[in-house]
Amino acid sequence: MIRPDLSGAQTIGEAWIVLRSAFRAACLETADLDARLLTAGIVGLEAHRLVTGGDAPLATGLGERLAQAAFDRLNGMPVHRILGARDFYGLKLELSSATLEPRPDTECLVDAVLDFVQATCAARGHCRIADLGIGTGAIGLALLAECPDAQCLGIDLSEEAVTTASENARRLGLSDRYRAKTGDWLSGLKERFDLIVSNPPYIPTADLAGLSREVREHDPELALDGGADGLAAYRIIAAQAADRLESAGEVALEIGIGQKDEVSALFIEAGFERSGVFADLGGVERVLCF
Ligand code: GLN
Repeated sequence: MIRPDLSGAQTIGEAWIVLRSAFRAACLETADLDARLLTAGIVGLEAHRLVTGGDAPLATGLGERLAQAAFDRLNGMPVHRILGARDFYGLKLELSSATLEPRPDTECLVDAVLDFVQATCAARGHCRIADLGIGTGAIGLALLAECPDAQCLGIDLSEEAVTTASENARRLGLSDRYRAKTGDWLSGLKERFDLIVSNPPYIPTADLAGLSREVREHDPELALDGGADGLAAYRIIAAQAADRLESAGEVALEIGIGQKDEVSALFIEAGFERSGVFADLGGVERVLCF
């Protein structure tokens, strides 16, 4: 892959056009959007300011950084991995190699439990949330940002994810209500929660090879691999959650395509009642509540 030449670009707008042409020539599916997001992210402008800010001179060193970013993108690195951060539910979250890049689909999980968290805060003065498999901390942090009386304990097997999520909490001014620690789902926890949320790994192991190159090479396998049938994490959560939930508590889970019936059966067998099914923007049944 050729490294785009930005040596002739004097302004932000000229650099943007070089990236766009290179991405179009390489037939990137979202060439224009990628060029816009990368240029804006690296020069430090909001994307909608690129047009009006395009005449500004390109500061020293930025041409080199944009050339490297374009090269990485042309070699299959996702835009937000290059930028090191992604927006989720209105929050800017930093990524690391141990964290899944938060997806818009997962915003449906936040939407699905928001009323419950608000109602619990109104009735009890607080809502204790456990988020299992936190990655960047996206789900818990979004809920805390929306609900000032909620608090969250985030658990992840990966120490690096715990560090990334804790730093995101600190940057967002939410650390006083967010605690993250390493752990194996709910094992060893003594406290009870009003809400247990999780976007666990749910891709069957044999399907991992068929994921897009961007996902396969840049999202951590630990956050994707759901075991032979994709349901390993749900089995563990179903077995552990009843003992860690308050009596009026709720469990809310993201699921993969076509997993609704099997995941529901696991929880119903463990004594839960299903209280909601929510579809994502693509119409895929994506979130189950129990
Ligand atoms: N939604 C992710 C994907 O399609 C998978 C995340 C997960 O397994 N929890 O790549």
